[in-house]
Amino acid sequence: EPSSLSGLPAGVGEALEAEGVAELYPPQEAAVDAGVTDSESLVAAVPTASGKTLIAELAMLSSVERGGKALYIVPLRALASEKKAEFERWEEFDVTVGVSTGNYDSDGEWLASRDIIVATSEKVDSLIRNGAPWIDDLTCVVSDEVHLVDDSHRGPTLEVTLAKLRKVNPGLQTVALSATVGNADVIADWLDAELVESDWRPIELHTGVHFGNAINFDDGSQREVPVERGEDQTAKLVGDALDTEEDGQGGSSLVFVNSRRNAESSARKLTDVTGPRLTGDERDRLRELADEIRGVSDTDTSEDLADAVQQGSAFHHAGLASEHRSLIEDAFRDRLIKCVSATPTLAAGVNTPARRVIVRDWRRYDGEFGGMKPLDVLEVHQMCGRAGRPGLDPYGEAVLLANNADTREELFERYVWAEAEPVRSKLAAEPALRTHVLATIASGFAATRDGLLSFLDNTLYATQTDDEGRLAAVTDTVLDYLEVNGFVERDRDGGREGLAATGIGHTVSRLYLDPMSAAEILDGLRTVADDAVAGESDEFVAADDPTADAPDAGFTTYTRAGEDGTDGDPSEEPASGDDSTPVVTPLGLYHLVSRTPDTYELYLKSGDREEYTEVCYEREAELLGDVPSEYEDVRFEDWLAALKTGRLLEDWANEVDEDRIAERYGVGPGDIRGKVDTAEWLLRAAETLARDVEGIDGDTVVQVREARKRLEYGVREELLDLAGVRNVGRKRARRLYEAGIESRADLREADKAVVLGALRGRERTAERILENAGREDPSLDGVDPDSSASAAAT
Ligand code: ADP
Repeated sequence: EPSSLSGLPAGVGEALEAEGVAELYPPQEAAVDAGVTDSESLVAAVPTASGKTLIAELAMLSSVERGGKALYIVPLRALASEKKAEFERWEEFDVTVGVSTGNYDSDGEWLASRDIIVATSEKVDSLIRNGAPWIDDLTCVVSDEVHLVDDSHRGPTLEVTLAKLRKVNPGLQTVALSATVGNADVIADWLDAELVESDWRPIELHTGVHFGNAINFDDGSQREVPVERGEDQTAKLVGDALDTEEDGQGGSSLVFVNSRRNAESSARKLTDVTGPRLTGDERDRLRELADEIRGVSDTDTSEDLADAVQQGSAFHHAGLASEHRSLIEDAFRDRLIKCVSATPTLAAGVNTPARRVIVRDWRRYDGEFGGMKPLDVLEVHQMCGRAGRPGLDPYGEAVLLANNADTREELFERYVWAEAEPVRSKLAAEPALRTHVLATIASGFAATRDGLLSFLDNTLYATQTDDEGRLAAVTDTVLDYLEVNGFVERDRDGGREGLAATGIGHTVSRLYLDPMSAAEILDGLRTVADDAVAGESDEFVAADDPTADAPDAGFTTYTRAGEDGTDGDPSEEPASGDDSTPVVTPLGLYHLVSRTPDTYELYLKSGDREEYTEVCYEREAELLGDVPSEYEDVRFEDWLAALKTGRLLEDWANEVDEDRIAERYGVGPGDIRGKVDTAEWLLRAAETLARDVEGIDGDTVVQVREARKRLEYGVREELLDLAGVRNVGRKRARRLYEAGIESRADLREADKAVVLGALRGRERTAERILENAGREDPSLDGVDPDSSASAAAT
């Protein structure tokens, strides 16, 4: 009985009962027995959808009841607000909740007043680096999906963050939630935690493989689903689930495929299955939903999604805008959308169960591997775990697809009978340690090499490894790098090696930059600093610059500037110090931040190499730094890939249509947003770093700021003021500008009919915009939109 739980705020047990939690699930019971409501640390390794969140809530609520403060670490930013909304129901019991999003360089001081804080591991890491005062007050930390410590990109951050939190707060209760993995005991060992491990699920799961005319399930049963030659296996299985009524309703399906493009084409194909099975009422509601989807953005992706959804089928992948994603997830939970074709991102965390899960692709292209690679067992198990909606379905079914008998046997061996892989720490790699070693020193967790190594001893890596020397060796390599780049100072006098972050090292750590990104940005900015280029005269560079003998070095920039720029007379170039400094343009800055390891560059497709080589030489004068030699294959390709990314950003800042950008670069609207956000963040960091570059002038700093603002709004320079008004945005700003309204001040004074005309007669929008611009009387009552044309002419 939840109401008999002790240690929680009064009434929580009753509230749980009211929500339908009549009794605790067995793994929850085991967690309580292990002391989770009594400050005990715990690792809960249980299947998807078996109530891990409630285990975390019990821990956090009891900790708060004892006067403490809890932190819930989510694996994805998209989940942070979802979790916050879920925990907000406890506000009724005076438990306050806050979510930490936003910039990586703030200390989130306001969160000090919250009882429960939700954040990603990157955000927590940055809060520690920026000295968030409340970190010391934490009494309970929850790590959701802790098996992701295995991820080579993001795992090390989670690992180091947990180690830091535990070091600052020795009595900290640590609750780690994990999928069922091969070595949950090692994780428990690392965190000094009790272990609750279980295969229990609230709803039965049957896993099987389809081949030929039937699905064979793991319990030995069979289900006939005949597929004739030339028929589509997936379509038959989706149709079969829909035609099997339980509770008067057919079952929905979730189809996992290996790429975004496959998700989209699968969704389109499956409209043939879902469309004819819709009721009239469903059709009406889906038409409304489709309109809503089209309203989110004006892109092909949006249009394709709406077309499929109108027929009861949808796709879901990381290229979708977040509004699109949540519309799809909600409509699928409401059983309005009958089938979702998804990439594996959906399997991670989002709560969207279906009666039947179909794992259509169990191999995926892997660039590093150089071919198709089978998915991890853990990943496939998580997909399968999405099958079965408690309270709605009598059971869940997960089906893998085989096209011959041998593959059927292989799939049983590889996935159905197999245990998930053990989790392995990825900390002992240079990119991960580069950033974490600097942050550890800068935040005062280590002042000597020995201290650093003993701090690293608190990580999962140290718990797991047999090779004691490896971590120390990589750490030393990284220390050399940080020293050479001026981020760390080492004092080798005496027996113990002392370590300290330099001023710029502290800045880099707080900005949350990979030190290698910071070094790249600093180098780029130095090429436009006065003393780095021509100084007072051109002979000076030639004599002093060791690279001056190389073709073009040092001179290219101003020869080209002369060609492109306003001042075309070459004889004047060396004379004036100002002319010799290369022009700083948005493209130069976008290219610079795109070539840092903090940006995922776009890939070069076939034909791109030629195209961007040409762009590269055409616009060389704008690029900050020397173009690598074409013979340095990898570096040159990287340079071009960054240029492609930089051009995408430039297009965005030049008001090119989202759709056009998506098509030109082969990306989705969600990707554009992601690239823009990252570049904005890096340019903000560049502005701060610029203060540490000797010889940089104020104009350059202004250029950096303006290049960032243009990305923020996706507009040309002249629209910056207008686009900053809430609800205006890039397209409306342009239309207002064309109607003669050029600034926020103009908006306050403008003829209302003109405003209305520029906003295509949308009264409510116009009123809201006028209000946001600070107009005293935003009401549009009595304004005749038809008069706008004549008004605009006056
Ligand atoms: P997990 O985090 O393990 O994937 P969730 O915590 O999201 O799973 O739980 C899945 C669903 O089960 C949620 O809708 C939750 O409200 C419900 N649930 C959790 N515990 C119980 C319980 N003891 N009784 C009934 N429903 C529960």
